[in-house]
Amino acid sequence: MAESCIFCRILSGEIPGQFVYQDEHVAAFRDIHPVAPVHVLVVPREHVESLAKATPGQRDLLGRLLEAAAQVARQEQLADKGYRTVINTGVDSGSEVAHLHVHVLGGRQMQAMG
Ligand code: AMP
Ligand code: ZN
Repeated sequence: MAESCIFCRILSGEIPGQFVYQDEHVAAFRDIHPVAPVHVLVVPREHVESLAKATPGQRDLLGRLLEAAAQVARQEQLADKGYRTVINTGVDSGSEVAHLHVHVLGGRQMQAMG
C-alpha cells in the first residue's frame, strides 16, 4: 500500500468507496465524479503506479483487471449495448490518480475519441 495513494486508502477501507466488485486481486468501485450513467473504476489491490510501470511479473494481474472490467460491465447491464474502457497513463492523458485503474463507462452513446 502506498500511504498517500487515494485508491490504496479506498481499498484498505480508510476512505469509503462504493464497491461493485471485489476478488482477491482486483476491486471495482464507482467513480466519485461520474461522466456517464455507469462509471466504475477497476483497480488492482496491489499498488501499481500506471500501465507504464507494470512489469512482466504483473501480466496475470493485467489480465485479471480486464476480466474484472468485463464482469463489471455484465453486472451493470452494459454488455448488450456496449461500453468504453479507458486507461489513462501519464501527464498527457490527464491522469489524476497514480494507481492503475480501468474506467468502465456506459449507459449512454459515447462520442468519437479525440
Ligand atoms: P484518471 O484521471 O484516469 O486518473 O482518473 C481518476 C478518477 O478517479 C477520476 O475520474 C476521479 O473522479 C476519480 N476519483 C478521485 N477520487 C475518488 C474517490 N475518492 N472515489 C472514487 N473515485 C475517485
Ligand atoms: Zn495505490
